Formats: sequence, structure tokens, C-alpha cells
Amino acid sequence: MDNDEFRHWSRRAADWGVDYRANLRDRPVRPQLNPGAIFRSVEEAPPETAEPMERIFADFEAKILPGMTHWQHPRFFAYFPANAAPVSVVAEYLVSAMAAQCMLWQTSPAATELETRVVDWMRQALGLPEGFSGVIQDSASSATLAAVLTMRERALDWQGNKKGLAGQAKLRVYSSDQVHTSIDRAIWVAGIGEENLVRIPVAGRYRAMDTAALEAAIVADREAGLLPAGIIACVGGTSTGGTDDIAAVAAVAKRHGLYLHVDAAWAGSAMICPEYRHFWTGIEGADSIVFNPHKWLGAQFDCSIQFIRSPDDLVRTLAIKPDYLKTRGHDGIINYSEWSVPLGRRFRALKLWFLLRAHGLEGLRAMIRNHVTWSEGLAARLGREADFEIVTTPMLSLFSFRHRGAENADPDEHNLRLVDAINSDGRIYLTQTRVEGRVAVRFQAGQFEATAADVDDAFDVIVEVARSL
Ligand SMILES: *Cc1c(COP(=O)(O)O)cnc(C)c1O
Repeated sequence: MDNDEFRHWSRRAADWGVDYRANLRDRPVRPQLNPGAIFRSVEEAPPETAEPMERIFADFEAKILPGMTHWQHPRFFAYFPANAAPVSVVAEYLVSAMAAQCMLWQTSPAATELETRVVDWMRQALGLPEGFSGVIQDSASSATLAAVLTMRERALDWQGNKKGLAGQAKLRVYSSDQVHTSIDRAIWVAGIGEENLVRIPVAGRYRAMDTAALEAAIVADREAGLLPAGIIACVGGTSTGGTDDIAAVAAVAKRHGLYLHVDAAWAGSAMICPEYRHFWTGIEGADSIVFNPHKWLGAQFDCSIQFIRSPDDLVRTLAIKPDYLKTRGHDGIINYSEWSVPLGRRFRALKLWFLLRAHGLEGLRAMIRNHVTWSEGLAARLGREADFEIVTTPMLSLFSFRHRGAENADPDEHNLRLVDAINSDGRIYLTQTRVEGRVAVRFQAGQFEATAADVDDAFDVIVEVARSL
């Protein structure tokens, strides 16, 4: 591809992207197709000779686009949002064109220094005290792994990486059953073992860990010769928004000298609004906090911020410093690859910088407040319908509900069929969860381009499809 073609196709792609976003409302949110259809439509063998771009692009539109689920669709109410505000897409074009590896200060000083600055902007925006530094990881899963490795090394007096876990005291980590599966996986990968992730019972609407039970479990483990290493708390759990009492958990962590990691991957974005910060009162007592600007806030995936109290502990856990990476003569500079598991890293700060400047915190707060208000309104409306039941009331913009089917219908099957029927209808997209073992339909409003009318449409679709089953 020469520069003239590069220019031509870059413009085509940008125009295509704008048209795509502008017309999203007219598409079904989820594709309606059978498994294997896209796979079979792509040639079995790789091309031996060059093909014209015109044909490649045409195939993208004809074969690939029909198989996409439209995550930027304004009526996407499933999972959590993965918002990519248009301005963050523009920043990603630039990052993509420069294609720099930003693992060391010297491999792109601007990427490193802007990252330090915008992470501190976000610290201020979330109302976190000075003394937290941070790094942009690729995902909350990576941030949690980095935190678990740090708690492991701290508990083992920094001997785990060197000696391995064999022959060491058995490590113990504590959480509720409301945390994301990325916590389980971090525990597996860190070699701690699933049996040593101690699940603390929960209580109340927010399914918060019982901190007396937490403390009792820590004391009992110590007496049994096990090695408590850390606690993982959540603010805004994925299923129904489960939220621990962070102040109480932090007090336990402090009393027992344990590392506290808080997963606020989704709900963290809402903390730019002071009125929602009661959900994480006591957060200043955490050692590590993860929050994904790539979810609700609008920074295109991937962009996950990990705030940490002691970067030294993180770097002591993860830095390797082989000779060829040493940046001699630059004392005091940051090499962010020492703060994360992967070595190579993208320039992720640029899109966050563009986003924060183009919308301002006021603009982003208005968006989040709207989503919370609309979601509360929808829960109230559904709750007034005799054949609907609100299972979990809104935690920010997330709630769950159930529809009552015919007398003899199995309620779980009926609600699974409802989710399926709604998603096949295509006008909106939802997912299900289980609450105390029973199926519930999950709803969250959080799309960057959603309007009140889109949430009203959701009400109409849910009621219409439920009553037609
Ligand atoms: C989405 C989510 C995660 C996982 O985030 P990734 O960035 O995809 O790894 C973890 N925890 C919670 C609470 C989440 O909502």
C-alpha cells in the first residue's frame, strides 16, 4: 500500500466509521445468524497473491459486518457498556498510525508522561486522595492479577518469584462470591489455588461481605498455620452490583496487615459524581483499586486504570530489568512495563486525554447521571406491572427483574426464553444472571449515545415480548 492508497483507504475507513455510528439505531443490536456461517464464508486457504483493497473492503462489509454485535448501539443494555466515544476513536486512529511500543520512558517519553498526568487527572476526578499513583493496564483482569501477585509476594517476604510456592506456607485470599471471575483466574494463575480463595458470606441488598465473618476467617487461618495475604473487595459486582462496605473491610485489612485490592471495574466511572461516592466510603484505605475507563466512561477499549498506594511493591513484584531494557542515565523516570505483566504496551493515555478534554468532567457526569436516572425510572415502571417483579433494585444503572409466566411454567425456563426472545427480536439486547440460584433478567443503561427514548423503547419491547411468549 503506497501513501496515496493509504490516504484513500484511511479516509474511506473514517467515513465508513462515521456512517456506521450514525445509522446504528437502524440495525438489530445482535446479529441473527447460525454458528459457523461466517467461518464458512471465508476462504479455507490463505491468498497466494495480492488482492485489490476494493475487494477486501467489500468483503468486510458483506461477510463480517452482518456477524457483528453492535456494542456502540444505543439500545445495548446487556453486560456492561464498552463505550468508545467518537473522540476516543479519533485518538486511536492517531495511536494506530504511530504504532509505538510504550514499555519504557525512552521508547516514547510522551506516552509515559501523559499516562502519569491523565492517571492523576482521574485520581482527582474520582475524589481519591493524593498518595495514589497509577498505571493504565490493558484490562481489569490484568490489574487484578498484578494486585494478587503483589499481595502474594508481600506475604511471602518477596520470595515467591524466586523460590516458587512449593514448601511455602499456604497463602489465603478472601472475597465474597459476588466478585468477577477475573478474581478466580488471578488466584489460579498466581499459583495460590482456588481452594485458598476463601468465600466470605454476604448480606443485604448489596451483598456485602460480613466483615465479622471475614475477620474470624483470617484469625482461624492464622491459628491453623496458613498465611493470609490479602482481601479482594468489590464495588459494583457484575451480576447485580454487589458492593462491599469498603471502610469496614479496609479496617480489617489494616488490623491484620493484609493487602486490599478493590475491583470497581464498572462502577468506578460513576465516582466522578460526588453523590455516588458513598458506595466506596473508606476507599482511601485500599492498596490497589481497578476501574475501567473503557467501560462506562467512554475511552475506547483497552483502558483500565490501576491505582496503587505503593508502586514500589508492585515494581518489586513485576520488574525484571534485563540488560537490554536498562535505561541508563535516566534516574527517576518511569518504565511502565515494570508495573504490569505484559512487556509491550500500547499508548493508551491519548484517548483518555482526548475524552476528558472534549467532554469535560461535567459532560461525563451528566451522561452518567442520566443513565442512573433512566434506569431507576425503568425499574419503577416495570415494578408497577403486575406480571413483573424487580429482583434487585438499581445499583447505579444496573438492576434485575423477572417476568411471571403461566401458572405451570418453570420460572427459570420462562425467563431464559424471555431473554432469548428479546434478543432475537433485535431492537434491544439484554443478558441474564442468577440471583440466589434463580434466573433473573439483567438490565443496565450506560451507552454513550443512549437517550431517554431508547430506555422507554426498552420498556415497550420487554413488556410486549414477555406477554407474547
Ligand atoms: C468487566 C469487569 C471485569 C473484567 O474487566 P476486563 O477489563 O474485561 O478484564 C472485572 N470486574 C468487574 C466488576 C467487571 O465489571
